[in-house]
Amino acid sequence: MFDKIIRKHILSLKPYSSARDEYTGTIGIFLDANENPFTSVVGKKYNRYPDPHQKEIKTKLAKLKATPPNTIFIGNGSDEPIDLLIRACCEPKKDNIVILPPTYGMYQVCAEIHQVEIKKAPLTSDFQLDETAIEKVVDKHTKIIWICSPNNPSGNLIEESAIINTLKKYPSTLVVVDEAYIDFASRPSMISQLAEFENLVVLQTFSKAWGMAGLRVGVCYANSTLIAVLDKIKYPYNMNMLTQKIVLKALKKVGKKEKMVKTILENKAWLEKKLAKIVNVTKINPSDSNQVLVKFNNAKELFDFLIERKIITRDRTTVHLCEDSIRISIGKKKELKVLLEEIKDFYKQND
Ligand SMILES: *Cc1c(COP(=O)(O)O)cnc(C)c1O
Repeated sequence: MFDKIIRKHILSLKPYSSARDEYTGTIGIFLDANENPFTSVVGKKYNRYPDPHQKEIKTKLAKLKATPPNTIFIGNGSDEPIDLLIRACCEPKKDNIVILPPTYGMYQVCAEIHQVEIKKAPLTSDFQLDETAIEKVVDKHTKIIWICSPNNPSGNLIEESAIINTLKKYPSTLVVVDEAYIDFASRPSMISQLAEFENLVVLQTFSKAWGMAGLRVGVCYANSTLIAVLDKIKYPYNMNMLTQKIVLKALKKVGKKEKMVKTILENKAWLEKKLAKIVNVTKINPSDSNQVLVKFNNAKELFDFLIERKIITRDRTTVHLCEDSIRISIGKKKELKVLLEEIKDFYKQND
């Protein structure tokens, strides 16, 4: 199957072999990588190259996610696996990808950078997968179908049965399920289905629930054959030593992540309840993530008003199916209180 999906020259590519690939021991006198034998100029031990395969992290993540280490790829944010998947599979000006708008913008931008055609199969009006729309655009050059669940910007999960149908219907097309917000959802990850579907790819990130957006850590879970291809084409040392250390530390604090998720979900429920009382709110889209897409009367004017008051939300009013909608990230309770006051002020609603 992968012979058909992966570009021919990538299949036969011989990757760069780093010093740390050729000798993997940790004890000895290291005179192989032209490193500085002293410490760094800032006094810390940054002088050695990091583990190119992040073995320690993969061992821990494998346990946490109940999937073998060779099904895991760790990248510089999810941006890296998104880019690598397109580069590995799509022949410029020949192959195409399918996206389901409204959705995360990076799939399209990455494809455009590589001159890969983008086909669109919009979600239904309640932001669910439209199987007929997908059927209409998929052709023999379609290499990847991108499904974001929970979806950004609508916030809701995509029904799992529709994802499974897609996986079955297009067995020689990659179906990427971007689960950036899965920690906030009531449904478990699709990682558990990797053994069943060769064409399934799951993306997760440390940027949202784990609170580590600034460190840039994204994870791709997939069939080990595909992971080996991503490993072959990535920059050899794509994850720096400091980040690796901090991720290892984070993996010991799953409880802390869960606690923050719980608080964020409570704040979301509170915000939704308060928004429902605002007369000019016309729709609150059900959310399985840490964002809510809210429809307002005069949404664009409200958005500009909020900016003036130094409250930054995301203007989605020009996005297909999101007309008159603003996407709100779930902040701290006191931040949301200020937001609500300003919204009421804008509409001159006083209660
Ligand atoms: C935020 C987000 C990501 C995370 O991207 P990183 O590069 O890992 O920070 C991925 N996918 C979606 C849909 C997102 O909204």
